[in-house]
Amino acid sequence: MECMAVVEFGEPLERLSRPLPQLTGRQVLFENTHSGVCHSDAHIHDGYFNLGGGQKMPHPFPPPFSLGHEMEGVAIRVGPDVPASEAATIVGKRFAVFPWLGCEQPTCVHCGAGNGHNCLSRESVRFVDGRSLLGGYSSHVVVPDPKFLVNVDGIDKGLGCIYMCAGLTAFAALKKVGAAPHGASDILVIGLGGVGMQAVFLANAMFGGWPMVMDLDEEKRNVAAKLGCQAFDPRDAKTALRAVRKASGKKRGVQACIDFVGADPTIKMGIDAVRTGGKVVAVGLFGAKLDTSLSMLIMGQKAVVGSLTGNLEEAKELVALLRSKQVKAPPTEFRPITQANQALEDLKKGAIAGRCILQHTWSPAEKSAASL
Ligand SMILES: [Zn+2]
Ligand SMILES: [Zn+2]
Repeated sequence: MECMAVVEFGEPLERLSRPLPQLTGRQVLFENTHSGVCHSDAHIHDGYFNLGGGQKMPHPFPPPFSLGHEMEGVAIRVGPDVPASEAATIVGKRFAVFPWLGCEQPTCVHCGAGNGHNCLSRESVRFVDGRSLLGGYSSHVVVPDPKFLVNVDGIDKGLGCIYMCAGLTAFAALKKVGAAPHGASDILVIGLGGVGMQAVFLANAMFGGWPMVMDLDEEKRNVAAKLGCQAFDPRDAKTALRAVRKASGKKRGVQACIDFVGADPTIKMGIDAVRTGGKVVAVGLFGAKLDTSLSMLIMGQKAVVGSLTGNLEEAKELVALLRSKQVKAPPTEFRPITQANQALEDLKKGAIAGRCILQHTWSPAEKSAASL
């Protein structure tokens, strides 16, 4: 197998070759065809996550490893414990890989309930952590069990991968809103980057109507306004807040705000923009410190919840929703895997509109040579 690997934090990825692994148990050998490039990849490549207030959380595993947790491709082989009848439904078929795996032990409070995405065990096998050379930036990956393969039939080829992270992030945040009796217009989306824009389309599919949106960029606001969103410029926070409240009519604010930025002013805006009993879903990892009056939260009966991603069932629910409602795909750009360095660099500079998807253009000889 081939991998565009992190060999030193912050340094260009290097191409490494390794033998293909032997499968055990119910493992599936999966050949990637497409992998999304995510902002988390950029942070892991740097070697740390910014926690705000100058605090950094270092990446816990040493290189070399593969980045990438948005994977789409074909199952090519299964382990000895997968019965032939089950293998026949898997091998040779196209899937996306659900990457948010926990320890997957039935006794685990999270994994036992199907919430491996919340598992903090060191035994967690999630691909996002960049702990082995098998990942999204590799030709192959080992999936621990066929149940983590998500059928993406009906989704355009190459796009299934991005719904396992960016799409699922947006979807899980919207699910946390709960009921929106006044439709999507009762939700304020702050930040119209790739994930925020997906949330705009998903809010429309889930709740009907279009959410209110806020972004510094006029062009992005115009795109959303053309869809039917009420779009606000957050530069002057007081004016923006007044405009949201006015647009909400007699409801005195929105039921929910999803903050895809996570900066000090955006989280404050979210708390102020939701009405009594409302909810702020914090998603963006820009590094804000939550600095607010607890008494005001209590008296306003407001909730602030963090949302990182969804579970396996939600991933499947999302794909079903995309299929049934023909939800518009976000803007995407395809590049060959050999240009992974350039893609990461462009992502860090903010020079990628929407989502960059790496195409696994290794030649067959390259992919298998290392296993001979
Ligand atoms: Zn991601
Ligand atoms: Zn667990």
